Amino acid sequence: MNVVVRYAPSPTGRLHLGNARPAVLNWLFAKREGGKYILRLDDTDTARSTEAFAAGIEEDLAWLGIEPDLKVRQSDRFTLYDAARDRLIAEGRLYPCYETADELDRKRKRARALGKPPIYDRAALNLTSEDRARLEAEGREPHWRFKLDGRPVTFIDLIKGEQTVNTASMSDPVLIREDGTYLYTLPSVVDDIDLGVTHVIRGEDHVSNTGTQIEIFEALGGAVPTFAHHNLLTDAEGQGFSKRLGSLSLQQLREEGFEPLAVAIMASVTGTSLPVEPYASLEAIAEKLDFSMISHSSARFDPAELVTLNARIIHAMDFETAQPRLEALGIADPRAWNALRENLVKFNEIAELRKLIDGEIAPVIAPEDAEFIGTAADLLPEEPWDDAIWASWTNALKEKTDRKGKALFLPLRLALTGRPDGPELRTLLPLMGRKVSLARLSGRGDPRN
Ligand code: GLU
Repeated sequence: MNVVVRYAPSPTGRLHLGNARPAVLNWLFAKREGGKYILRLDDTDTARSTEAFAAGIEEDLAWLGIEPDLKVRQSDRFTLYDAARDRLIAEGRLYPCYETADELDRKRKRARALGKPPIYDRAALNLTSEDRARLEAEGREPHWRFKLDGRPVTFIDLIKGEQTVNTASMSDPVLIREDGTYLYTLPSVVDDIDLGVTHVIRGEDHVSNTGTQIEIFEALGGAVPTFAHHNLLTDAEGQGFSKRLGSLSLQQLREEGFEPLAVAIMASVTGTSLPVEPYASLEAIAEKLDFSMISHSSARFDPAELVTLNARIIHAMDFETAQPRLEALGIADPRAWNALRENLVKFNEIAELRKLIDGEIAPVIAPEDAEFIGTAADLLPEEPWDDAIWASWTNALKEKTDRKGKALFLPLRLALTGRPDGPELRTLLPLMGRKVSLARLSGRGDPRN
């Protein structure tokens, strides 16, 4: 089977972590199956969709490493939807309704008061053409409802297993608004048929739509795709991510310096039985992640886990991988990268950390340590140095001064780096070299002075 999937965001906001989940899960599935990935912009809501959001979504996907094979926009495809609309009208599956929102509200209240489910009563189906003409003469515009079969619709969900949605307990869904604009349901089905979509992978909030959509697929004579509804990503309190929650937009995560791979791993692996760990690439996740591993309960996102994962990805990054980015920062030195990478959480921190080797820092020498640091400078061997220089120097210093442990090492660290913590001095010292080390032990931050 030639697998075709689609990711269908509405360009009414930037992507956030929650809607990155279907973006990545679709991509992983397409990779595994050697299938095609379509980016479909659901922009029938012309009032809320913008070009800037559309461009932003593409930028966010590219950043995650997702390059769609095909991009389509629903706003370019109205002729297809109009043809489907006309067909459904001709076949009596789409019917005009004239109730106002208030009238519908009253009907719902009445049904509830009678202990009945608040389902649309299909009164509009009984309207004669004279009734309709009269209502339209009063200035009412119809909205259009799809006439459901009203039966249990069963499908095998690749994640959730067999699902049944009983359309008898649902109101006939409105497919076209009073102003003639389409709601998402019909265009989505028309596109899935037209583009040969074989698998619909989306959030489980769409399970109940699936009953309606399967009926529409059948009414239009289209092949019903296979569905896979995944759990939704939530924050630590169990709340869903929304477009309004700007704090976890992909754009912001990028600006904060997170690795796209870390974000893609969090978006896809959270809430599955796979461990959150530094997979080498999206392909490496694709090889491992199977739909059967996706949990049936929610996927809780823990920001601390993203931070840890990001750091682990950087710690494991070899010089060749880091090189182009280091070159852009003007610091492409393999020894420095290997000495410092394990101290990074975000990649760009390397620029600051790199200064510890030969940049300008402010050595800290407490008055009570001044004599000790002076002795350390005196004992600092001539070059050339080998990798054991730190051990041989500090051993000599220990013997000479009787200091050991923290009293020995902390003043050295403060003088040499200006900080109480940081990378191993064992690795840093050979990189600093004698000239820089001596300058710092003499309290000079800039070895050129
Ligand atoms: N635009 C819809 C959404 O973002 C797409 C749902 C689907 O994948 O069918 O919810």
